[in-house]
Amino acid sequence: MTAISLTGLTKVYPGDVTALDTLDLEIRDGEFFALLGPSGCGKTTLLRTIAGLESATGGTVAIGERDVTALPPGRRDVAMVFQDYALFPHMTVRDNIGYPLKIKKAPAARRSAKAAEVAAELGLDGYLARRPGQLSGGQQQRVALARAMACHPSVFLFDEPLSNLDARLRLEARTFLKRLQRELGVTTVFVTHDQAEALALADRIAVLEAGRIRQLGTPTEIYRRPANTFVASFIGSTPMNLLPGTVRGAWVRVGDALLPGPMGTEAGALPEGAEVVYGIRPEYLRYTAQHAADVPGALPGRVTVIENLGSTQLLTLDPVAGGPPLQVTVPEDLPVTVGEPGYALPRPERVLIYRDGDLL
Ligand code: ATP
Repeated sequence: MTAISLTGLTKVYPGDVTALDTLDLEIRDGEFFALLGPSGCGKTTLLRTIAGLESATGGTVAIGERDVTALPPGRRDVAMVFQDYALFPHMTVRDNIGYPLKIKKAPAARRSAKAAEVAAELGLDGYLARRPGQLSGGQQQRVALARAMACHPSVFLFDEPLSNLDARLRLEARTFLKRLQRELGVTTVFVTHDQAEALALADRIAVLEAGRIRQLGTPTEIYRRPANTFVASFIGSTPMNLLPGTVRGAWVRVGDALLPGPMGTEAGALPEGAEVVYGIRPEYLRYTAQHAADVPGALPGRVTVIENLGSTQLLTLDPVAGGPPLQVTVPEDLPVTVGEPGYALPRPERVLIYRDGDLL
């Protein structure tokens, strides 16, 4: 069942800024859905247009079976949690959580009981009499969540829900949010510019660029097979290596080296002589200090930077034959020194070939 359906959605701000460009999207019932993209791609505008806080210039927004395009936010049955939580500083936690019910003119006793019930679900029972200023960032975030939950909306909309938390709290809050969403089963759309957050939380992700969806898929699909070089360079904690090359049979010539084409590709299935981009993630390259240089399938280079990432090391290798440096992930205990010559060997089953920016 579809929870949110966007058809031809367009938003043009004054000054002729097209923030959303005839966008079509169907979000399923109960789904945890991420809108991901760089700054200015239109994520917040999209979320606010679903909420009714921005009016669409063209196209329609449907929630469930209802076309809500012309309805004000209060009649859309959605609850939005803002990046800064937007709590009322002069109100207690109890009153903040109960506020949406107050708007709906629920009696005080009911508001108070509901606030206590939701607060208990979120581990906030001991804080009902406090004001937001007397809470940690993580607790404030939970109050904002509790306020959103108090009305049992059919859709939650989160704008960068974790961005105000420090690194440790952020991880904790991420797990908490995922569990809560699973338990409540409420369709949730969240905006983030953090690809790791989107991969960790979402059932599906839409990657946006300049008001358009560049790829829609599960985290695994988007991570394994980015549909274009934009998504390939955006997803992954270290970006994918994207090396310009030329097709030679089942191989791709990158500088002076011949690298294996994708496994399963018949010789000749790649367009012979075509200029392509050879895509391989740092974790799918094997590094070796020794290799028979005349054996195809490895890119010779020199290690110029070693970054310790804790459980792994990230090497930067400057190819001997010139061209862009590439990055290789190696185990944390592999002895490597800056300046040493070495080889990067791609795992053929993980190679992706892009032509004119799109995955072949
Ligand atoms: P960020 O991650 O930086 O918040 P975003 O992906 O959420 O970015 P939006 O805030 O939706 O992007 O903005 C999309 C585009 O619309 C940007 O070019 C932005 O400058 C423009 N924009 C946003 N709000 C307005 C406004 N009120 N008036 C004019 N242009 C706007």
